[in-house]
Amino acid sequence: MTTTRIFCAIALLVLNLTAAAQDAKSGLEDAFAAVEPKVIAWRRDIHQNPELSNREYRTAAKVADHLRALGLDTVDTGIAHTGVVGVLRGGLPGPVIALRADMDGLPVLERTGLPFASRARGEYNGQEVPVMHACGHDNHVAMLMGAAEVLALNRELLPGTVKFIFQPAEEGPPAGENGGAIMMIEEGVLDGPDAPQAILGLHAWPGNSGTLMYRSGSFMAAADGLQINVAGRQAHGSSPWRGVDPIYVAAQIATAIQGIPSRHLDITKGPAVITIGSIHGGVRGNIIPDEVEMQGTIRTFDSGVREQLHARLRKTVQAIADANGATASVTIEGYAPVTGNHPELLGKMLPTLQWAAGSGNVIEADLITAAEDYAFFQQRIPGLYLMLGVSDPSVPLSERPSNHSPFFNAEEDALIVGVRTLVGFALDYAGAAVD
Ligand SMILES: [Zn+2]
Ligand SMILES: [Zn+2]
Repeated sequence: MTTTRIFCAIALLVLNLTAAAQDAKSGLEDAFAAVEPKVIAWRRDIHQNPELSNREYRTAAKVADHLRALGLDTVDTGIAHTGVVGVLRGGLPGPVIALRADMDGLPVLERTGLPFASRARGEYNGQEVPVMHACGHDNHVAMLMGAAEVLALNRELLPGTVKFIFQPAEEGPPAGENGGAIMMIEEGVLDGPDAPQAILGLHAWPGNSGTLMYRSGSFMAAADGLQINVAGRQAHGSSPWRGVDPIYVAAQIATAIQGIPSRHLDITKGPAVITIGSIHGGVRGNIIPDEVEMQGTIRTFDSGVREQLHARLRKTVQAIADANGATASVTIEGYAPVTGNHPELLGKMLPTLQWAAGSGNVIEADLITAAEDYAFFQQRIPGLYLMLGVSDPSVPLSERPSNHSPFFNAEEDALIVGVRTLVGFALDYAGAAVD
């Protein structure tokens, strides 16, 4: 055989394999049509019955019942409190991949006016609160239930194994509790005989309904919580020289730290945000208080920038406190590292995404300064994280309710695009595996 012939033979084989995968997906149109109304009904039911982080009991039971009814090989519950993990072995040899959906709602009073709007209430950090799926996780759960159904009913086409990860507490567990992606990982969701090689997650987002948005490399920010305590010395408001005014010091700190991103960080590596969202100190106008408490959040897209920012922040706070005779403590608590898309895997999976959403509907997006605890899965294995547009395209972008808004809602025609994306990834990953 000449080199050309060998090349032709390999090319034909690749073409055949690609065609086989295409055929596997193209034979599923009836399955997608059959599951779509079910996904919409599940989503409405979950939307009407939202549950707070680490309290997703009803949602988890609904998911587990569904996965058991589909005859999955294993269905485990109670993972990281309320998480559910199902394993489906396909009829063809291949790798293990994971598909992830988060399940929790938020303490938000729903104002969408939908017929299936939530009237649920719950308890959050000791307070009674309204509960709403204001981040769209109801859609995530319903879409992954739909993908499980399509794959389970067509398991003879599936190369390898799919692990369905239904995760609690993405929004962060209540005070004093553990939870979320990191706890699922600690409990072994990425280990054992069915350890996944790659993972896919989707998030409902106010893009045009049915579009998929991605970015190669960093996509969503790393987020760190910030607490600064400034201690001064109490005195009469009329004679500040007799004390140390922590309000004056806190005001300088709040202003000075804004100079860190603009003056000290190499912003060619990625943007950074520091926000002080809360300052508390004092009880009345003529008393200089002893202490001021400040809380904030930090967002970055590069680990080097993140480290530099933390170091410079500590230095700046200490220097300002010292210069004023006050003392200050800085506590930085990491919420999540950067979430993004493995560049090589993304390149290989783009045709699948275009199949799922339609070629004009797969869009490279801007960076997002929100964060996701999905990042912890991606620290362990290559993964993709995509935004699924769920907003009415006739509404101008600036007027669409954002995630966490009491008006956040999803157009239901987007849901089947999400199901197709999850199913497509499961079927095509075997031909696109990365190290
Ligand atoms: Zn959220
Ligand atoms: Zn969310």
